Amino acid sequence: MANVDQNEALFERAQKTIPGGVNSPVRAFRQVGGTPRFVAKAKGPYFWDANEKRYIDLIMSWGPMIVGHANPEVVAAVQKAAETSFSYGAPTEGEIELAERICALMPSVEQVRMVSSGTEATMSALRLARGFTGRDLIIKFEGCYHGHADSLLVKAGSGLLTFADSTQNAPSSGGVPQDLVKHTLVLPYNDVAAIEEVFKKQGDQIAAVIIEPIAGNMNLIKPSKEFLTAIRSLTSKYGAVLIYDEVMTGFRVALGGAQSLQGVTPDLTCLGKVMGGGMPMAAFGGKKEIMSKLAPLGNVYQAGTLSGNPVAVAAGLKTLEIISREGFYECLTGQTEKLMAGLKAAADRNNIPFAVDSEGGMFGFYFTNEVPTSFEAVTKSNIDAFKKFFHLMLDEGVYLAPSAYEAGFTSIAHDNAVLDEIIAAAENSFKKL
Ligand code: PMP
Repeated sequence: MANVDQNEALFERAQKTIPGGVNSPVRAFRQVGGTPRFVAKAKGPYFWDANEKRYIDLIMSWGPMIVGHANPEVVAAVQKAAETSFSYGAPTEGEIELAERICALMPSVEQVRMVSSGTEATMSALRLARGFTGRDLIIKFEGCYHGHADSLLVKAGSGLLTFADSTQNAPSSGGVPQDLVKHTLVLPYNDVAAIEEVFKKQGDQIAAVIIEPIAGNMNLIKPSKEFLTAIRSLTSKYGAVLIYDEVMTGFRVALGGAQSLQGVTPDLTCLGKVMGGGMPMAAFGGKKEIMSKLAPLGNVYQAGTLSGNPVAVAAGLKTLEIISREGFYECLTGQTEKLMAGLKAAADRNNIPFAVDSEGGMFGFYFTNEVPTSFEAVTKSNIDAFKKFFHLMLDEGVYLAPSAYEAGFTSIAHDNAVLDEIIAAAENSFKKL
């Protein structure tokens, strides 16, 4: 197919100077096979690859592009900011405006520090939690991804009783010292008994619990109310810091993030993706009492040459302004639900076991009969069917995340005509499965 040739040529060329040909692993299509599409340009809900083939984008840069690619208002804001230099390494008024807007939209965030990536946000929030509590241990949950800082790249040991035994943990990446891993406990998502047991045994040593309040890195998995409530009451009781990693869900599932939907308030929140409108921008924030331990006020060090970058701030501010307009989330949520209902109906017509879920502009679909509630359950869905479906949809011009363990993302530019096209593509694909 001539269409794939340019992508193949670029992929071959890329692999000579870039490890694996990509600057972030999942882009390499390793889980689904085939050649990554090299993007030439994008607009609204679409991007065009190196062969000028058009795709409907259902990744949207893994979340940030909630107002559509190359949104004219955001482009204008970025152009204006760029005209007065790209970076100063000194504070600007724009950073204050962005901080004020974030604090207003997310009331649990009393103060916020800007960084350049989600990884930096979670890594810094953990250091802060450790500095604040004077403790080392952290708890994370299986299937949640919080960026690639050493202490977060840890797998669970097996069996509930060994969960609290950190010598059973193995790093899930080379280059991560066992010595660091021993401070990270990994528990199953949605398992109240497991976290109760760990706190009972080691509660006074736990600095922080970090969680995706709606998980988007093992497909889309929602927490139960009991699970979140238990985490909140245990962390409060034992003086541990509750960190919500809303890098993905913040400003994506609702204007106030997942925390505005679930009735549980974290101590610290990590943000990224949407808040930078597609520019390298992220943040962490929360209770003033904790945030004041950060340098230059406190002794927890954290810094960044490009932190609060003025061009990224301009993109973020304009994006947050657009999503704050009346009706934005009603529309986004409605369109996403409509898409999911369309996919489900198409699967049903073709007798394919299929389940769907969504929240705001974030969705999950699963080749199984029921919506999963844990990482283990996701691994039991039909991954082979997903891989085939992925390629059939790609041929149809619909770009899904190249992994069954990722959530999907819509934007306000995904209008009815776009949804109809996706659903028709899915119908054709299901027929061929
Ligand atoms: N936390 C979550 C929940 C994420 O989904 C991601 C990235 N997908 C990160 C942290 C890391 O962000 P970044 O890739 O910007 O470092």
